[in-house]
Amino acid sequence: MTTETFIDLEADARVRADDRGHVFHSWSAQALIDPLPVAGGEGASFWDYRGNTYLDFSSQLVNLNLGHQHPDLVRAIQEQAGRLATIQPSMANDVRGQLAREIAAVAPDGMEKVFFTNGGADANENAVRMARIVTGKRKVLSMYRSYHGNTSTAITLTGDPRRWANEPADGSVAHFFGPYPYRSPFHAASPEQETARALEHLEQTIILEGASTIGAIILETVVGTNGVLVPPPGYLPGVRALCDKYGILYIADEVMVGFGRIGEWFAFQAFDVVPDLVTFAKGVNSGYVPLGGVLISDAVASHFDTVSFPGGLTYSGHPLACAAGVATFEVFRRDGILERVRDLGDRIVAPRLAAMAQRHPSVGDVRGRGLFWAIELVKDAETREPLVPFNAAGADAAPMTAVAAACKKAGLWPFTHFNRVHVAPPLVISEDDLIRGLDIIDRALDVADEAI
Ligand code: PLP
Repeated sequence: MTTETFIDLEADARVRADDRGHVFHSWSAQALIDPLPVAGGEGASFWDYRGNTYLDFSSQLVNLNLGHQHPDLVRAIQEQAGRLATIQPSMANDVRGQLAREIAAVAPDGMEKVFFTNGGADANENAVRMARIVTGKRKVLSMYRSYHGNTSTAITLTGDPRRWANEPADGSVAHFFGPYPYRSPFHAASPEQETARALEHLEQTIILEGASTIGAIILETVVGTNGVLVPPPGYLPGVRALCDKYGILYIADEVMVGFGRIGEWFAFQAFDVVPDLVTFAKGVNSGYVPLGGVLISDAVASHFDTVSFPGGLTYSGHPLACAAGVATFEVFRRDGILERVRDLGDRIVAPRLAAMAQRHPSVGDVRGRGLFWAIELVKDAETREPLVPFNAAGADAAPMTAVAAACKKAGLWPFTHFNRVHVAPPLVISEDDLIRGLDIIDRALDVADEAI
């Protein structure tokens, strides 16, 4: 199908009517939304029913690492559906075992077991449950600038405003400040100082919350929706050392950054650290069928050799999802996806974003790695006042809405959050499309410049 010419206004009207009539959307005031009816997608693009095609720079919530309708993943799901569409988690299954073996093979030594879940939030729920059982300690520490999912414990772990509507929560989570060199909560003058002060703050938090009450620290290896915050050198090893010092388990939330987003199987592998538990979802099979999981260190897993782990859901480790996961490993290896992501990030994204930062007075900071970047927009480069206020909504968010609209008008679907434009296209995007998309963002930033 040539995406440019696909128009079906009758289908467009029908999809809109069914959606607005009957679909109750997540994270939305139902009467204020107008979701785009999407007709199809391929690779790094998708299209609507009105003849518009969009370059997908959001990867559908930073999920679709291998892009829309990847033929190998579609085929793997179809073949699996023809063979054995589902089987309960307590039985052994070939693709489930094969995927777990593949994941363990790319993990550090001493992480042999995988517990499968349906997605990212329940992966975090189960990692926390494991940590609480193994340590006998209930409290968990997480960053203020974090998102860990929207189920009961996961939203409590979340540090950003999405947790507010769920509070007061159960009280067994405490938050701390993580490093953020551009807006240093520690008034640090260098990344090294940021690391030192952030670790000092974390240690104080541990002491004041009570090391004897804390079972785990959970953190996103690279903070995702809260700003693509790449940890400064030494921070994650420092967290590891504090966990060891105080008998706390380290949970790495790799739901958004695992499986290639920054050019590594697991993002922590770029930061010289080995966690006790690693949660993943999204990129493990590009979300073609819901799947998540927890990669477990042998020390934690062995606790459950003779003690039952009280966790599991009917669809955990669904064969259709696992078949897509096995195909994901094949595609990553065959097509050199990890190397490609590192190359595109270093050679194309980094210099082009740096040039945008020079050109646009509204660009305060650009940061990221691989195919995971943020452009942070400000009213004033000196004061670093954000282009829109923290947690902006409605009229307050207008300048960012205008930037997003300019991107969409030019054929790019952006990922924007508060005062940031994130760059997170599918990892299979062609070099030409990547450059075209960055050029569209570059032009859309004129709208931000005019707003300041
Ligand atoms: N953890 C992180 C870092 C995420 O970015 C997300 C979702 O965006 C989640 C957890 C929750 O994953 P899910 O929506 O699959 O439950």
